[in-house]
Amino acid sequence: MILLNICLQTSAPDPNAPKLWGGRGVSDFIRPYKSSEQYLYAMKEDLAEWLKELYDLDISVGSLLEVLETGSMLCYHANNITHVAGEFSRDYPGLAHKLQLPRYGVTCNDSAQPGTFQARDNVSNFIQWCRKEMDIKGKGDVLMFETEDLVLRKNEKNFVLCLLEVARRASRFGMSAPTLIQMEEEIEEEIREEMDLPPEDIPLPKPQRKPCDFKNLDQMVRGHCNRCTCPVQFSMIKVSEGKYRVGDSNTLIFVRILRNHVMVRVGGGWDTLEHYLDKHDPCRCTSLCKSPCAVSNLGGCFLYISPGFKCLREPIKGAE
Ligand SMILES: [Zn+2]
Repeated sequence: MILLNICLQTSAPDPNAPKLWGGRGVSDFIRPYKSSEQYLYAMKEDLAEWLKELYDLDISVGSLLEVLETGSMLCYHANNITHVAGEFSRDYPGLAHKLQLPRYGVTCNDSAQPGTFQARDNVSNFIQWCRKEMDIKGKGDVLMFETEDLVLRKNEKNFVLCLLEVARRASRFGMSAPTLIQMEEEIEEEIREEMDLPPEDIPLPKPQRKPCDFKNLDQMVRGHCNRCTCPVQFSMIKVSEGKYRVGDSNTLIFVRILRNHVMVRVGGGWDTLEHYLDKHDPCRCTSLCKSPCAVSNLGGCFLYISPGFKCLREPIKGAE
């Protein structure tokens, strides 16, 4: 999500008014602001690492889209998931009917070159497979993407979210999952236990999860909170390991470490704690900034004016 944050003055400045936040006066600056894109980076990093291990690929966060853009690997992935689903229904016939399992794989052109008709064809086959076999709905659904979103990089976010959704669904029938999905399952288990709900009715052997380093997590959370410059610090009170009550509300959030990111579970997805606080901590959208950024960098710039000003967030065209 790319946001153009515009801080508007809510009343005329009073020159005699006490100056808050370090006594800075009215001034306007812009600076590069990328926290809104960090969650996407964290997701890409997680997906790349997972695919690397799963298929022994030479892939990293920087080359994820490049490796997948011809669609060949995506089709291979779809066929592998279909194969895993087939094994699942043989091993657990009683459970298989409770899930929508993919039954048919896809045809694939292995020699497709980037940007070609063949690449589009492969990607399109994968998309159709996601819709039909994995029951991920199209049109208006953020979890689905379109061919050009990947081939021409028109919407990286939708592609990444779709890939994660495929992984989320495939994990239910025994496919190994990226760390983010494993953390989701861990949080769901915790919620189920707290609410005294019975455990998930599909007891699949899950790979050993790496335990979360909660001590380090709490320190990282404190570090993010301490950057608050509000007269009364925006609070994040630890309720239990990885679970915090935020601000004045009764909102509880689940927080986890993913490599060097602190991630927050929000709705059906994830955000980085940094971006989450940028949206919820009052001082962070009115911070003053010393170094203006190049206009060419406007991809995600903040326009800063001064504390005491109302902060408006205007989505840039093409972004959510
Ligand atoms: Zn604050």
